[in-house]
Amino acid sequence: MPAKGRVEINEKYCKGCELCVEACPPGVLGLSKQRLNAKGYHPAELIAAGCTGCGVCTVVCPEAAIEVFRVVSARAATA
Ligand code: SF4
Ligand code: SF4
Repeated sequence: MPAKGRVEINEKYCKGCELCVEACPPGVLGLSKQRLNAKGYHPAELIAAGCTGCGVCTVVCPEAAIEVFRVVSARAATA
């Protein structure tokens, strides 16, 4: 079973540079088409299911705006 994860993006720090969008292996990040943050940028957001929790996005983000959470199954946690 592929690993699962989720991300929380702190929009107020995002500058819409798209580095995370380009770096995400499964391509589940995109810039919001509707919303603008206080700085006037379209912030990054999850646009599809399939985040693996790999952490690449948080490494490339120059603003440290992304937190990654990895979902660990109960079986894996006790193994
Ligand atoms: S943790 Fe990995 S899979 Fe999930 S959004 Fe970030 S780069 Fe994409
Ligand atoms: S890399 Fe960071 S600053 Fe750039 S779009 Fe993604 S979340 Fe926003």
